[in-house]
Amino acid sequence: MQSLSHRYAEKLADLVSVVAPQGLKNQRLRMVNRPLAEQLQLDPELWENASLTTLLTEPDSAWSARAVAQKYGGHQFGHWNPDLGDGRGLLLGECLDKQGNYQDLHLKGAGQTPYSRFADGRAVLRSTLREYIGSEALHALGIPTSRALCLFSSDETVMRERAEPGAMMIRTAPSHIRFGHFEYFFHSGDKDKLEALFNFVLKEYFSECIDQPNPHQALLRAITLRTARMIALWQCHGFVHGVMNTDNMSIHGITFDYGPYAFIDNFHASAVFNHSDPQGRYAFDRQPGIALWNLNMLAYAFTPYCDTKEIRDTLEQFEPVFLAQYQKLMLTRLGLSEGAAQRQLSNDWLSLLSAEQRDYTASFRLLARHQHTRDAGVLRDSFIDRARFDNWWASYCEYRQPRDLLSENPAVIPRTHLLNEAIKQAESDDFSYAEALLDACLSPYDTTWDDHHFASLPATAAPVSLSCSS
Ligand code: AMP
Ligand code: MG
Ligand code: MG
Repeated sequence: MQSLSHRYAEKLADLVSVVAPQGLKNQRLRMVNRPLAEQLQLDPELWENASLTTLLTEPDSAWSARAVAQKYGGHQFGHWNPDLGDGRGLLLGECLDKQGNYQDLHLKGAGQTPYSRFADGRAVLRSTLREYIGSEALHALGIPTSRALCLFSSDETVMRERAEPGAMMIRTAPSHIRFGHFEYFFHSGDKDKLEALFNFVLKEYFSECIDQPNPHQALLRAITLRTARMIALWQCHGFVHGVMNTDNMSIHGITFDYGPYAFIDNFHASAVFNHSDPQGRYAFDRQPGIALWNLNMLAYAFTPYCDTKEIRDTLEQFEPVFLAQYQKLMLTRLGLSEGAAQRQLSNDWLSLLSAEQRDYTASFRLLARHQHTRDAGVLRDSFIDRARFDNWWASYCEYRQPRDLLSENPAVIPRTHLLNEAIKQAESDDFSYAEALLDACLSPYDTTWDDHHFASLPATAAPVSLSCSS
């Protein structure tokens, strides 16, 4: 069977622990991302006759023998925690994709590791399914993210707030290196390991930085700019990550470590969906500021290589880059060109949505559907304060460009109530609803969905409050 590469495990052997994956009771492959598998040049035989399950759970197989847990730390809700690491996920190895780039294969829910602390090393079907559909949905929206390769269900029971079915998934990403990797080896004072990590990251992932006057500063700049772009996309699409701890931040600027995430439905800027975040540290409108705070925490690890001015100059690029990307994307969604009046229209649109807590995604989609008419029709009807809407609409019609906006404004996003339905059915061993929702999320701009229940929030939907446990 296809062998994997093990660059991280080989070149940074002191930064990992070798751990064999532990299978689940009656583990079964239930979802496979075939286009991604093909892109990763994985052998199609993997998906036949339980061969992957066997590969993962047989000791010493080509995919289990060299699995490792990575060590990292992280700032959790603002507090430094050195005792983190892959507590339930294992890096199986890397494979080369069709573009010639390595991609990590990471198995989540594979049992205890030296970093599990007192937890069970497992993941539940609820959270793996949420990650699977959520990450593929973000990818389809053009938001950088880790990807979902496959998902296993099982007959194993895992205790969370309730007894839940255990599951595993394999996700892929250019690497699983987090801000917390650098933070850990900096704060532990382990200079050699920190240096080895920097050298590995520069050589394997950011080689374009090596020729720069200060390669480390160039690396911090690259991470800063990628993070700014990712956050701009989150803000434009109303995505709330939920737990932006530094151990959940990827150095590649991709959406990573899906937990209690949600898309905003009825728009309010300070939306929080994680019920373990009563202070709203990770509220929707705080995400840009938190990303910059996280970059500041990361930057401490760069202090042996960059002076204060270099670090300050680099981090100062976050805000202008974030704002420029955000404004550009917002104007694109609205079909407006660049300009002060247009930016005002974009802000006023958000104020309209906020004042009446209109559904964020559905309102943009309705706007796109009324793009070619002067009659705002059902869009207008959805507002209570018609005078205020009419005022905005008249001005908007002056400035909007005659462009098709349906391909900028999705009809479908993975709404929490839809994910909950998919989870409920999957827990009864029926994945058809999950597959149908995933399909819709993969073609979010398609007009097929416009009047489908996937495209709207039912009036009866309960407010979203999500558990961090996963
Ligand atoms: P998370 O909240 O998922 O980002 O995880 C934070 C830390 O807790 C990481 O070090 C995880 O590996 C660890 N962790 C989370 N859940 C479990 C679990 N069920 N078993 C072992 N470690 C876990
Ligand atoms: Mg995490
Ligand atoms: Mg997690």
